[in-house]
Amino acid sequence: MAMSEVFAVYGAAGCGRSLMPIAAEQLKRVASDSQIVFIDDALVDNAVVNGHVAMNYDSFKSLKEEHKFVLVAIANSKIRQQLVDKLEHDSISLWTVQGSTTLIMDSTNIDQGAALSPFVTIASNVTIGKCFHANLYSYVEHDCVIGDYVTFAPRVSCNGNIHIHDHAYIGAGAVIKQGTPAKPLVIGKGAIIGMGAVVTKDVPAGAVVVGNPARPLIK
Ligand code: UDP
Repeated sequence: MAMSEVFAVYGAAGCGRSLMPIAAEQLKRVASDSQIVFIDDALVDNAVVNGHVAMNYDSFKSLKEEHKFVLVAIANSKIRQQLVDKLEHDSISLWTVQGSTTLIMDSTNIDQGAALSPFVTIASNVTIGKCFHANLYSYVEHDCVIGDYVTFAPRVSCNGNIHIHDHAYIGAGAVIKQGTPAKPLVIGKGAIIGMGAVVTKDVPAGAVVVGNPARPLIK
């Protein structure tokens, strides 16, 4: 008998409710009739969100299915990492989800737990770390190297030969100038790129940049 499986989208707020239909459609595409549920720790038992069964983590853990797969659908990368650490501790598998219109080109390496929304393109020879979120219409062009827990809001234009370090957040509609193989453009660890920013040069770790050309945010 085949091993029994259950799938979940962790987070039933904005991010999770947008990723659930993509996740459910992916299961249909692979002709799986396994159950898919929401996990959200703010919910009481027997909740229903957008027609899907929703439960807290402890209830999910106690489901009888032997193999559990979870997509962590929370935009905050620090929370995403905390939840992934918990899932790994509990030997629950990370699940990668992509839309039917997501395009992945040649020789890419995308680590576990990614959420690749509809109309996202990952071009050739791109390497991506754990639990990448690429929201609607974003692209990652050739030869980019993206770290762990990086988050793209919708319509991010990440051109060729860009390196983005762990936990960076790229706002909606930001455009990042391409680097070269010898000198990639680097977005440092935990940097935040404001929506609509036009990034023309390296961004240091932890910096917040906005505007065109993108400059450090003066508060
Ligand atoms: N959440 C959770 N367990 C946690 C942390 C967060 O279930 O340990 C849920 C939280 O209840 C909320 C969702 O994750 O429903 C995060 O939602 P938020 O509005 O922060 O962001 P988004 O959906 O935009 O990522």
